[in-house]
Amino acid sequence: MRIAVLTSGGDSAGMNPAVRAVVKAGITKGCETYVIREGYEGLVRGNTTPPRPRPKAERHVPAERLARFGTDALVKNLSFGDGPALREGAGDADEEEEGTLRGRHIVRVGWDDVRGWMGEGGTFIGSARSASFRTLEGRLAAAHNLIKEGIDGLVVCGGDGSLTGADRLRAEWGELVQQLVAGGKITETEAALNSHLKIVGLVGSIDNDMALTDMTIGAPTALTRICEAIDNINSTAASHSRAFVVEVMGRHCGWLALMAGVSAGADYVFIPEQPPKSQPWEEEMCEVIRRHREVGKRKTIVIVAEGAHDRDLNPIKAEKVKDVLTEVLKLDTRVTTLGHTQRGGRPVAMDRILPTLQGIDAVNALLEATPDQPSYMIGIHENKILRIPLVDAVQQTQAVAAAIEARDFGRAMSLRDPEFEQ
Ligand code: ADP
Repeated sequence: MRIAVLTSGGDSAGMNPAVRAVVKAGITKGCETYVIREGYEGLVRGNTTPPRPRPKAERHVPAERLARFGTDALVKNLSFGDGPALREGAGDADEEEEGTLRGRHIVRVGWDDVRGWMGEGGTFIGSARSASFRTLEGRLAAAHNLIKEGIDGLVVCGGDGSLTGADRLRAEWGELVQQLVAGGKITETEAALNSHLKIVGLVGSIDNDMALTDMTIGAPTALTRICEAIDNINSTAASHSRAFVVEVMGRHCGWLALMAGVSAGADYVFIPEQPPKSQPWEEEMCEVIRRHREVGKRKTIVIVAEGAHDRDLNPIKAEKVKDVLTEVLKLDTRVTTLGHTQRGGRPVAMDRILPTLQGIDAVNALLEATPDQPSYMIGIHENKILRIPLVDAVQQTQAVAAAIEARDFGRAMSLRDPEFEQ
């Protein structure tokens, strides 16, 4: 089987370990492994130039390593010489040629190409937001490129948007193949050989915003970065008896804000799913903070998710919270927006373990896929790696956003956590 992996949407720590796991598990199971650079954009553009001849690295393969895997696949797939180029984000993708972007986005990789990727943040194969993949024309080009390169199975690592795109490609696949035949791009035989797209999703998202899985790849690292930042702020806050309003990421999902609040002992947290009960909300927050100050607390930490709002969906921004704390409670208040510092950096242990276990299962799911089965997203629930129909996960995630939009906050919370009680 020929399998490819791409990373898409916002980058997250753990994407490199995910790619590494898919490549190494694929090779171990006897597959040919590919990476697709620049997410769906690379899939749409495909390969428009021939592969560059690359010098093969001379290497000594320790016998015990080969014995450990007991397979010829490892020897055959040791190196294709593109590793350093991938790692540096260079190589020959997106070369400017005769005024058009051309190059190679679908690249064969071997075992050595992903060596040392476990502890590295972001994604070496690049991620992108692709407007063209949202169009039928773009998805036709993507399907054509997959068929042209002989790729039988695709692993997409990205957030809810990327997995929505994956689910759309799966749902439309039969139609796309028929259109490619009608347009003379592929033959009837190629169409028959590619009648079913094997696609698996891995959730790479710092927000932990995907339904039906307990944890997404990148969320533990982002949370750790937020905690470290708040720990640093805490010492200043306590020394000067100040208040800090910390804005963290999370447009539709308050997991980072809520967990950071628990980890840092925050006084008040604003999350999209559960706005303050009172409208206007200012006095409710001030009452809580006043109480904490009265029992001797010298510092005040308020965490605001970037997508926080009141019960009428008016945004609650960190600057506004600061003004309230300053004017009503007369606190010396500062705002800290953590921004991209919380996104990246070296993956914490959980963001190595989770993508490794899930990447291996993604390969197994591709190898075991049959046309009558749904495409899966690989999740984790109560510490067990499990497969969830991609369509269910995408629909339930969209249902949370819809419930917030409809101001049905109780439903938003119970969709996030079925055991939640108002
Ligand atoms: P994330 O995956 O981090 O949520 P986005 O929402 O930006 O990030 O999605 C990443 C990419 O996935 C988009 O740029 C687009 O190419 C693709 N995508 C998202 N939603 C759809 C959709 N409904 N149909 C087709 N492609 C989509």
